[in-house]
Amino acid sequence: MTMKWALSRKNAWERTPRWVKGALAPLLQRLPVERCLGQAFRRHLAFLRQAQWWSADEARAHQLEEVRRICRHALAASPFYRQHFAGAGFDPRDLRSLDDLRRLPTIDKDTVIEHLHAMCTVPADAPGVDYVTTGGTGGVPFGFYINAQRSSVEYAHLVAGWERAGYRLGTPLAVFRGRVVQENGRGFRHEHDPLLRHHYYSGFHLSDVTMAAYLAHVATLGPCFLHVYPSSAVTLARFLRRTRTPAPTNVRGILAESEILYPDQRRLLGDIFQCPVFSSYGHSEKLVAAAGCEQTAHYHVWPTYGHCELVDAAGQAVTTPGQRGEIVGTGFINTVVPFIRYRTGDRATYVGDHCVACGRAHLLLDDIRGHRVQEVLVAGDGHLISWTALNMHDDTFDRVLQFQFVQEVAGTARLRLVPAADFSPDDEARVRARLVRKLDGQVNFTIERCNEIARSPRGKAIYIDQRIANVSPADTD
Ligand SMILES: [Zn+2]
Repeated sequence: MTMKWALSRKNAWERTPRWVKGALAPLLQRLPVERCLGQAFRRHLAFLRQAQWWSADEARAHQLEEVRRICRHALAASPFYRQHFAGAGFDPRDLRSLDDLRRLPTIDKDTVIEHLHAMCTVPADAPGVDYVTTGGTGGVPFGFYINAQRSSVEYAHLVAGWERAGYRLGTPLAVFRGRVVQENGRGFRHEHDPLLRHHYYSGFHLSDVTMAAYLAHVATLGPCFLHVYPSSAVTLARFLRRTRTPAPTNVRGILAESEILYPDQRRLLGDIFQCPVFSSYGHSEKLVAAAGCEQTAHYHVWPTYGHCELVDAAGQAVTTPGQRGEIVGTGFINTVVPFIRYRTGDRATYVGDHCVACGRAHLLLDDIRGHRVQEVLVAGDGHLISWTALNMHDDTFDRVLQFQFVQEVAGTARLRLVPAADFSPDDEARVRARLVRKLDGQVNFTIERCNEIARSPRGKAIYIDQRIANVSPADTD
């Protein structure tokens, strides 16, 4: 059994008539989740539970072996890499240390777009090959091929990370993410997967009425975790604070992923839900994965998923704590289209190679930012203002369900907002006054009320719809 098996079982389950589900759910709920997820998953999870405590030497030895494996495979089977290696005078057999890899030039999204078929190590229509596209809410999405049998490895990395927040397999997850959840017979948007113990709620429908209903339902699940996009969880937290409703006390932790979790969002969620807030980093190309720490807000890069380098603008390794760099990844999972020294466009702060707080001895990053161009506003004089600087932990947006800046011209923007039922002119005045104070005349804005703000196709919030061409967020670091 594999994760894919569990997922195909799950799909079959979704097509099953409701009355059959009702009869079967109590039986399925007694099946151990680990068993349903398959042997490959169980093996990976056991491996990761141990690998996270490797010494620096053990982690480096494993990484070197994996980098050699992927480079040898690329040389043997990918016409692109044969040429790429030859051009750089690089031979995988000469790899003595991870530093030797740096002799290779980096590649990027444009390389993949231009050379995809030559990069492949098997025909694209071979069995066991999936075609996937990046979800990029900014920039041009692009597609590539990847091993169909990757889910068990990926899910094991997620779960091994979640365990640091106290999660155990089989504990129910209340999911507020990008899944499209239909109304059930009572007009309630909730779906239950008894196999995985997942409860899905609609992250696309977060009004006061639906949020009250979702949270009342979550309160009935017993000890559970919220699996969320940060933006969805923040909307729930603001609702609870505004309506002075206590958070469900059965939520043991919040697992926040797929969007940047800003420090003030982390604080707000911790304050309102009174539980650990845990986050992970990953990206569509699946080269680097990092998971939070139980003791700090830093990210620990998994030595088992891919090789991660942090490089500065000149391409040099970033090794000074506090310095920022771009994440360059060499992935271990995808053997169909190897990604070797790929510039992700994501940026992070180098913290160190050893976490004093928890004792794990691998690369530590902080303040990871995606390359989505929506996250900055352009001031009248052309300088960039990061979304982080504008985001507010206080009650400014408490009576606002959704909001988004739209910018087409430097120095001016429109703030679109979806008001809650009790939003008053005083609230609008307060939003205006606080933002005026923050923006300090650099960006003038108008406020427009609307009924809905579109999320990305995968349901993520877009805080700044940046329509000015060629805005580079790297300048805001
Ligand atoms: Zn740690």
